[in-house]
Amino acid sequence: MADTEYFVEYAKSGRSKCSAGKACNATIEKGELRLGVHFTTSAPMTKYRHWRCVTSRILENIGDPDDNLGGYETLTPEDKELVRKAFEDGFVAGGTEEEKDGAKAAAKLAADAERIRAKAAKEAEKEAAKAAKAEERAQAKAAKAAEKAQAKAEKAAKAAERKAAREAAAASKPAPATKRTRKQSAEQQGESAGEHEVDSAGRTRAAAAKRRRVGDAEE
Ligand SMILES: [Zn+2]
Repeated sequence: MADTEYFVEYAKSGRSKCSAGKACNATIEKGELRLGVHFTTSAPMTKYRHWRCVTSRILENIGDPDDNLGGYETLTPEDKELVRKAFEDGFVAGGTEEEKDGAKAAAKLAADAERIRAKAAKEAEKEAAKAAKAEERAQAKAAKAAEKAQAKAEKAAKAAERKAAREAAAASKPAPATKRTRKQSAEQQGESAGEHEVDSAGRTRAAAAKRRRVGDAEE
């Protein structure tokens, strides 16, 4: 630490600018607690930054404040506590870095959440599309089944119509002779023929009797 000396102090004027760069770049007001870094390159020079702009990297570089940080004894008890705690924690609580890191962490969390949300939305979209497709398939299947049932019903109705027509035709015309009906009709014819003989014989006998009665009457 021969070439670089760190020290804390209250700004003697309001002319110094915070060396934290983009993170701050603001003027250090007179009386504000600041960290001074005295170092020598081609010529000795000193840079300052708000105590709140001290980063964990700088705390690390300083190492042990008892050995490497000047000015500590000049601070108020509150600021001594602030500085001591920063070395204990490894960062300045509520400082610019923590704010930045907090913002970064919040941004990262938000980005993560957005990624997760987008992924979930995509998944949901995919699921919905899948469900819609399945629904479509089921509907098509149901429509096809209904069509099939309709065709079947139509076919059955036509068959019933044809059957009814056939039966109606059969009722109006004599049934075509089959072996069985031929035999039956032959029997029926035989029976009726016998009856006829009996009848005609009866009638013949009746006629003869009539003739006899007429003859008797003529005699
Ligand atoms: Zn600053």
